[in-house]
Amino acid sequence: MSANIPGYDGKRLVILGGGFAGLTLARKLAKSEFQIVLVNKHNYHQFQPLLYQVATAGLEPSAIAFPLRKVFQDNQNVHFRKAEIQSVDFDSKVVHTSVGTIHYDYLVNAMGAGTNFFGNKEIQKRSWGLKSIPESLALRNHILMNLERASSIDDEKKRQELLTIVIVGGGPTGVEVAGALAEMRKWIIPRDYHEIDHKKVKIAVVEASGKLLGHMSEKSHKAAEDFLKSLEVEVYNGIAVDSYNGDEVTLSNGEKLPCNTLVWAAGVKGMPVKGIPAELIDKRDRIAVDEFNCIKGQEHEFAIGDIATMQTEKYPHGHPQVAQVAIQQSSLLAKNLLRLEKNVPLKPFRYSDKGTMATVGRNKAVVDLPFYSFRGFWAWLVWMFVHLMAIVGVKNRLLIFINWVWNYVFYDQSLRLIISPAKHPKHKEVPPANQMETSSN
Ligand SMILES: Cc1cc2nc3c(=O)[nH]c(=O)nc-3n(C[C@H](O)[C@H](O)[C@H](O)COP(=O)(O)OP(=O)(O)OC[C@H]3O[C@@H](n4cnc5c(N)ncnc54)[C@H](O)[C@@H]3O)c2cc1C
Repeated sequence: MSANIPGYDGKRLVILGGGFAGLTLARKLAKSEFQIVLVNKHNYHQFQPLLYQVATAGLEPSAIAFPLRKVFQDNQNVHFRKAEIQSVDFDSKVVHTSVGTIHYDYLVNAMGAGTNFFGNKEIQKRSWGLKSIPESLALRNHILMNLERASSIDDEKKRQELLTIVIVGGGPTGVEVAGALAEMRKWIIPRDYHEIDHKKVKIAVVEASGKLLGHMSEKSHKAAEDFLKSLEVEVYNGIAVDSYNGDEVTLSNGEKLPCNTLVWAAGVKGMPVKGIPAELIDKRDRIAVDEFNCIKGQEHEFAIGDIATMQTEKYPHGHPQVAQVAIQQSSLLAKNLLRLEKNVPLKPFRYSDKGTMATVGRNKAVVDLPFYSFRGFWAWLVWMFVHLMAIVGVKNRLLIFINWVWNYVFYDQSLRLIISPAKHPKHKEVPPANQMETSSN
């Protein structure tokens, strides 16, 4: 079964994943001589740094997502397939997907990373992740439903479980979710849920390493902790989560927290598809690449962004899994693929670290630039500006800006809707077109 990609006289570049890396690469080469096939499981690009605002009812999902087909409306050479990537075959130069096989001349794996539960199946089953829009929406519905349940229950113990949210992982995602939930507790819960004593809503962050925002400067670790404490978030620093049974979290210091919501923000790992030789996959499931992002031992297969691990003197365990690395690697690879076609020597990748930042809430953020760190109101403004500029689509940028201004002035969004998809009783899954007929690609 083929994915029905039109025949083409030139070279075909197949890009797996429409995240920061895959989308940037496709955009850079959209006007080139390559035929580009972009494969992604969702029909949209999602802006992961703001997923936490969807999960905490601060933004609508449509504000942080952009339809991939719309990006390439004017590029006849770019073909999008909404499909699950299943495996790759380097020998036959083929990708197997849920909508059929796709042959390639060049292959770029930009499939990003998934949540790392460090093998803890119990936690994987019972906790909430924050890696995609569907996960963020599920978490938003769950938090809002728990507030509804807590309003209409008279069992104190059960109510406390429903009102306790434990966030595992004190990296940017954990800190940002905790801050947003603390602001929700302060400004929204007393107004919307008259039956709930908002002081009983407990928000805790558990970080095993002993440092919040571990990849940032000492000053930022401390500022993040101070900001969270000022918002009355409980910080368990240097303590790990041992187990979770759905009602109670057990910490490594023996403490037990009754809790119905465990948010897992403790790490990511690659998700290489079948067909990548095992010896090329590192301990964190990333694919080993050389300094040109070429998969080791291959000629026409590349990996970029979170899924790739390029060992350098400065980054012996690979580059940080952040958007800038993905964008810079894809921008260079776009040029290198054109060089390859012209038989011109390729340029190696050098990461230009522009700094890191995280926000904890209103007027509370930390920014580490290569030679200068600052925090507070100005850091928060910089954080907002950088994130706004990085969003795909002018309309999305405007929507987010209006949302943020509204929230800043009125302390209250009206996005707290519990909407779960309904199944139509007569609905039957329509098989993909290529399961009804066969055609060559
Ligand atoms: C909650 C959160 C907050 C973050 N905040 C920041 C931040 O503030 N600053 C920052 O720099 N970085 C942040 N990051 C990290 C940043 O988002 C990643 O480094 C970046 O997205 C990596 O880009 P990528 O293209 O490699 O992967 P992704 O952007 O993850 O793209 C991978 C794509 O591949 C698709 N895909 C994966 N598997 C399959 C499959 N089997 N079939 C089909 N499609 C598939 C996915 O749907 C996705 O579209 C954050 C990440 C998360 C999860």
